[in-house]
Amino acid sequence: MSEATRILVLNAGSSSVKYQLIDMVDGARLAVGLVERIGERTGRLAHTPHGGERRERTEPVPDHAAALRAMAEELAADGIGLDSPELAAIGHRVVHGGKRFTAPTVVTDEVLTEIRRLVPVAPLHNPANITGIEVARALRPDLPQVAVFDTAFHTTVPEYAARYAIDTAVADEHRVRRYGFHGTSHQYVSRATARLLGRDPAELNVIVLHLGNGASASAVAGGVCVETSMGLTPLEGLVMGTRSGDLDPGVVFHLHRVGGLSIDEIDDLLNRRSGLLGLCGENDMREVLRRTEEGDPAARLAFDAYVHRLRKYVGGYYAVLGRVDAIAFTAGVGENAAPVRAAACAGLAELGIAVDPELNSIRSGEPRVISPEYSRVTVAVVPTDEELEIAQQAYALVHQG
Ligand code: ADP
Repeated sequence: MSEATRILVLNAGSSSVKYQLIDMVDGARLAVGLVERIGERTGRLAHTPHGGERRERTEPVPDHAAALRAMAEELAADGIGLDSPELAAIGHRVVHGGKRFTAPTVVTDEVLTEIRRLVPVAPLHNPANITGIEVARALRPDLPQVAVFDTAFHTTVPEYAARYAIDTAVADEHRVRRYGFHGTSHQYVSRATARLLGRDPAELNVIVLHLGNGASASAVAGGVCVETSMGLTPLEGLVMGTRSGDLDPGVVFHLHRVGGLSIDEIDDLLNRRSGLLGLCGENDMREVLRRTEEGDPAARLAFDAYVHRLRKYVGGYYAVLGRVDAIAFTAGVGENAAPVRAAACAGLAELGIAVDPELNSIRSGEPRVISPEYSRVTVAVVPTDEELEIAQQAYALVHQG
């Protein structure tokens, strides 16, 4: 067995690369960093080694290759460079794995080709993820590169829930179906919830509410995802920071035919100028909460619309699961916004759901229960850790056999 116990996790976006070097023996972050503004006049790198000071560099970063070179220099300066024999693999976040990728996968040329074939259904994300893999491969061609897909955890959603009720031939020709996203987070949080409760994930039914800038819900039955709120793209489902979530597809036809907006303008409207931002001009929940307290009616409406949609999903997923053992709140809003959690669960005593106001108001970075003793359903706050999940999946894969 090799002694290599470190995983470098890369999350390559169109103009940024986030990275973490994690030691799998104890989960320690040996380094955490971000390179941003790739391709702009001045790029920026921020790098924090374990127990050390944060360092920043401002310089042109023309492309992803330059970004990863800068990252490699910083890691080398800390004595944990990419040439280290302790590096076991590089784990890549890949947004779209389609129907094919149901588990983490060691990248080969054939796998890369398949990820490329998925670009039409993930035009904003997969190209950058592919570039990240190609550049990392060039830096360490001998090292396993593992792709961990945001969609993989949702590939167990039954066909009747994954299909849109449209012509099957048209849907299949264009790969139109519900894929779901944030899967790595839903998987991590559903398991962490079982751990918090001291239960086996296989015997637990959990509703996971991942509420960040993007937001999604999932229903997890015995560790297996059976329903999730995002669809072909991350636009479906909950009200988000800047995305509308669910709407009548007729709205798109209407805005185009009657409103005269182009398809690109509608895409921009629904993805970047809707949700909380569209309703009250502010996409950050902290600001929405502050303005709500001051009595601002637009912020109140945005908050109420956000919570109303969330409650519809909680109720819907309750029916999908039949029995719910736990509801887990996670990501920026879920972990920090007590008023959202309280409002999402208010008045649901008949369903066995209750939140204890005092427990709910405690601020902590730890997984914790916020429901009272008598609550049949355990309501919990469970911080997500997508990087650790990617690292664990990559590590498990390269250590098989
Ligand atoms: P991303 O989806 O980009 O990973 P995060 O999970 O970090 O996002 O969530 C970011 C969002 O979390 C912010 O836009 C903000 O609305 C919300 N948030 C962060 N801290 C708080 C807080 N203390 N109270 C309410 N909302 C918060």
